[in-house]
Amino acid sequence: MGILSKKNTPDKWKEKYFNLLDENEDLESSNQEREDLLCKTIIRLSFATMGVNKGLDPYLKKIRTQLKKGLKTEQLKSELGSFSDALITMEESEPRKNLQETSLLFDFLVQHFSDQEKSLRLLQIKYNTELTNQTDLFIDINHLIRPSKQEVSSSIPKLNKVETKSVLSHLLLLLNTTEIPAQLDTQAQGLKEKIHEGAPLSTVLEETISLLFQIKKHVQSEQKDIAEFLAQLTEQLTEIGIKAAGAQSYSKSTTEKRNLLDQSVSLQVLELQESSKNATQLEPLKQLIHSRVETINQLIQDHQDQEENERNKVEKVENLLESLTTKLRIMEKESQALKDKLDTAHEKAVHDPLTSLPNRLAYDDRLKVELARWKRYKTPLSLLIWDIDSFKKINDTYGHKAGDKTLILISKLLASHCRETDFVSRFGGEEFTMLLPNTDGQSALLAANKIRKIIEKTAFNSNGKKIPITISCGITQFTNGDTESSAFNRSDKALYEAKNRGRNLCILDFENSPTS
Ligand code: GH3
Ligand code: MG
Ligand code: MG
Repeated sequence: MGILSKKNTPDKWKEKYFNLLDENEDLESSNQEREDLLCKTIIRLSFATMGVNKGLDPYLKKIRTQLKKGLKTEQLKSELGSFSDALITMEESEPRKNLQETSLLFDFLVQHFSDQEKSLRLLQIKYNTELTNQTDLFIDINHLIRPSKQEVSSSIPKLNKVETKSVLSHLLLLLNTTEIPAQLDTQAQGLKEKIHEGAPLSTVLEETISLLFQIKKHVQSEQKDIAEFLAQLTEQLTEIGIKAAGAQSYSKSTTEKRNLLDQSVSLQVLELQESSKNATQLEPLKQLIHSRVETINQLIQDHQDQEENERNKVEKVENLLESLTTKLRIMEKESQALKDKLDTAHEKAVHDPLTSLPNRLAYDDRLKVELARWKRYKTPLSLLIWDIDSFKKINDTYGHKAGDKTLILISKLLASHCRETDFVSRFGGEEFTMLLPNTDGQSALLAANKIRKIIEKTAFNSNGKKIPITISCGITQFTNGDTESSAFNRSDKALYEAKNRGRNLCILDFENSPTS
């Protein structure tokens, strides 16, 4: 259809223009009403909250002064911004109720809204007895002092169209930039739609305020949840800390296992940090943290069980070792006792019981040793055979006991007058042998004569009577090709010779010795 069609005649255009002017006038008037309502609501709210918190009062006063000069969107926005900041700071630093200020608030409200006195006092009691929090209190107060529809319509300040548009766009901006909890999302979307559809400003404002209060309430409850959750988490972590500190590493393998545990726990914590960074909602994050903490707890528990097992094993081994050590000590004692007995038995076996001198058995053993040494080092070795002279007579004359005593005394004399390296033994009856290492035949003869003379001079008594005792000795030096018996025979022959020559005599074997 063309512009200059019949329908769009100049008269029609004029009519349309006037209609639009009327519509615009209506709109302007309606906007002015909304603007007035907004100013009035804000002024009322500022009065209502005046005195609730001294820190906020200057901001409220500024907002009122601002509104009294008319609605200037930018300045109002800035004042409301300062007010919000102050409110946030205050809530963070001053979460507790101030009953004195609340009481002043209620006195003020009762003064100004005397028709609501009863409801206001009931609300005050409810708040004072902690049945409600500050946010709920403001919502309730808002409901109580909200003006009736007629009152509102009669007192609505008027906003122009541009300012209404600006207010609405700011409300939209506010809603879009505010983090809306999931459960309030539908409500927020509804409100945004209403704003887009051009719902009355009064309705939109009321719903926005209500939504904002609900968001605040939700955030507070979420903060409470987080605080509780953190407390629980701290408790769990403290428990883990105690457990971890209690676990002691006491062996290399345990230390290695402890390192493995540390790595596993670190991995869990790293994954947890990563997941936390990407988390957008509290509930799944809480569950994630719980499950991770549970895993870490389990890891530590497993580690402790392992350590406990190892401790038990070590304890068992230690007990076994201790019992073995005890048994070993007992066995050592027993074996020592046995050894002592054996030694005693051996001592007895190689000693003559009457004179305590080594016996013939001991002589045989020692002779083997001395012969081996003689063969190896080629040092001279001499063999002496002693025989008490006419001992039979002593026995016969003074008795067998006197004979025994004489044997004991002569044994002592023989043993005490030779060197430590010499070996004296009672060969049998009244005969004794002597092995003199490092001694040739001549030296042995000298030594033997010395002993013989000592015995001759020794006083033997029996019942006060002096018994003359002498001793004879046959001596030989071991020579090449000698055996145990060949040397003994030579020595024995020399002794026989000594007896033959009249006794009390030492004779060096004259067959082999260089000199006799
Ligand atoms: P000779 O000078 O030729 O050696 O004469 P003898 O009497 O010493 O030699 P004989 O072999 O005839 O006698 C040895 C005696 O020594 C005989 C024995 O009764 C005595 N006799 C041997 N063993 C013991 C002993 O343990 N105690 C006592 N009291 N006498 C002993
Ligand atoms: Mg004899
Ligand atoms: Mg004799």
